[in-house]
Amino acid sequence: MTERFAHVSGSSALDALNTVDWRLDPERSSEQLTGIGEVLDWCVEAGMLGPDEVATLRGDARDHPRLAAEAVSAFRAARDSAYGAMVEHDENAIADFQTHQREAFSRACPHPADGGRWTWLDDALTLRTPTHRLVRALTDLAQSDDVLRLHRCEDDVCGWVFLDTSPRRNRRWCAANDCGDRNRARAYYKRKSAQRD
Ligand SMILES: [Zn+2]
Repeated sequence: MTERFAHVSGSSALDALNTVDWRLDPERSSEQLTGIGEVLDWCVEAGMLGPDEVATLRGDARDHPRLAAEAVSAFRAARDSAYGAMVEHDENAIADFQTHQREAFSRACPHPADGGRWTWLDDALTLRTPTHRLVRALTDLAQSDDVLRLHRCEDDVCGWVFLDTSPRRNRRWCAANDCGDRNRARAYYKRKSAQRD
């Protein structure tokens, strides 16, 4: 299956924060999760929903378009509060994200998976389950050492984030063949025109 979404952050949960393009430029900013179909497709790619679950939720979305639209808004709101909280350390966003966390953790219980490591078990599968799973996964990330490697692409407007796992911790761009090339080209032309002047 060819993937619709980019998975370049090094964390399936964190990839959700990269479903807005050009986030730092309000005029250019564009939403990838435009409907419930996109949200569910993203969750499948990220491994947050299994095939049976997504089939059930696609049916629910067809039967309840209003609930589906609300679920899309909730998913995007949770994602954006996580961005403000984890990337920008904004106090209002942290408070918003905590509200999403209280909701997400109230809809599941930890349970031993096959007698081994405990995992979260949802009380029920609903159109809000994708949001709850995303918030719990982002909370796991925020509590792990990985979050210390969280870095925002150094492009002026890109806004994508990733875990910098490079040995020297010097990864600057979300995807080297995208923002990296564009910025290197810009620096090159700037140098060239400076030489001419
Ligand atoms: Zn970038």
